[in-house]
Amino acid sequence: MQITNKHNLPNALVEALTHSDYDLQPKPRVYSVSDLIQPTQLYHLKKRWWSNLTEDAIDNLWRMYGQITHQMLSRCHNEDGYDVRVEKRMVDRVLMEEFEDPYEIEVTGKPDRVLLCRDHAIVEDWKVTSAWSVVFAGKEGKPDWEKQLNCYAALVENYYQVPVKWLTVWAILRDWSESEAMRNENYPKKPIVEIPVKLWPAAKRLDYIYQRVYDLELYDCVEDQLLPECTPEDQWARPDKWAVMKEGRKSAVRLYENEAEAEERLEKEGKGFFLQHRPGIRTRCERYCAVSEYCWQHQAATAPLDD
Ligand code: SF4
Repeated sequence: MQITNKHNLPNALVEALTHSDYDLQPKPRVYSVSDLIQPTQLYHLKKRWWSNLTEDAIDNLWRMYGQITHQMLSRCHNEDGYDVRVEKRMVDRVLMEEFEDPYEIEVTGKPDRVLLCRDHAIVEDWKVTSAWSVVFAGKEGKPDWEKQLNCYAALVENYYQVPVKWLTVWAILRDWSESEAMRNENYPKKPIVEIPVKLWPAAKRLDYIYQRVYDLELYDCVEDQLLPECTPEDQWARPDKWAVMKEGRKSAVRLYENEAEAEERLEKEGKGFFLQHRPGIRTRCERYCAVSEYCWQHQAATAPLDD
C-alpha cells in the first residue's frame, strides 16, 4: 500500500495519519475479524493488489481519531466491579476439514474492551462515526457491527472461558449537531450514544466464522473476474428514488423506489406537484473501497453506455 500526500500536509501530520496499530495487509492462512466481515471479492482484490494500492494520508483522519479514543480507553482498568481488558489480541484456530488435505487457519481479533467478571463477559467496541450512520443504524440495523462483535464474542468465550452476555457499541459522533438534535426526533440527543448489538447463539457465531474462513480459502486461487460479486448490502447501496414534490415545499410529499408508482401518485395530486429523481448510490464502491480501480464489477457498473 502506497501513501500519498495530495494536500501537502506537514510530515508530522502525515505520520500521525498513516500510523496504524494494526498490520492491515492480508496474510495467507491468517484472518482478522476485519478480514472476515469484508466481502470475499474485496478481501481477495486487496490481498492480490496490495502493493499497487494507494491511499491519501488525509483519508485516514477518522481512523486517527479512533486510535486516539483507544489510547484514552486504555487508561481505565475497572468498571463497576468488572475487570477491564483493553485491546487484548486473541487468536483461535479453525481446522479446514472440508479440503482434501485439512489444515489450520488462524483467526485473530482485538476487541476494544472486554469487561470481565467471574461468570460472564461484556464486549464493547468504540467507534468514532457520523451521527447519520447512527440514525441509519437505528432504522436499518448495522450488519457489519453485528458480525464484527459476534466474532469477538466467539474469540472472548474461547479465550477467557466465560459466556458473553452483552455486546455494545459506544459511538462517538464526530459531526453531532445540537440544532439538528432539537429539530429531528430521530437524531441522537447527545454526541456519545450506546448502541446494543444483537448477540447470536454461540453455534451461529462459530458457523459464521467457519463459513467465512471457508469461503475466503475457497476463492484464494480463483481469478479476479470469477470472484463472487458484492451484494447491494456489501456495496452499502441505496437504490434510486423518486420524490413526489409540492411547489413551495422543501421536503418530499412521499418517496418511491418505483418510478411508475411515483408517477401514479403525481397524476392523482394534479397541479402544483412535480417528480424529482434522486439517483441511488453504491457508497462503498464510489467513496470508500480501496480496490475499486481493480474491481471488474465496479468498472462494469461505471462504464459509459454504448449508444
Ligand atoms: S468496488 Fe464495490 S463491488 Fe468492487 S470490491 Fe469494492 S465494494 Fe465490492
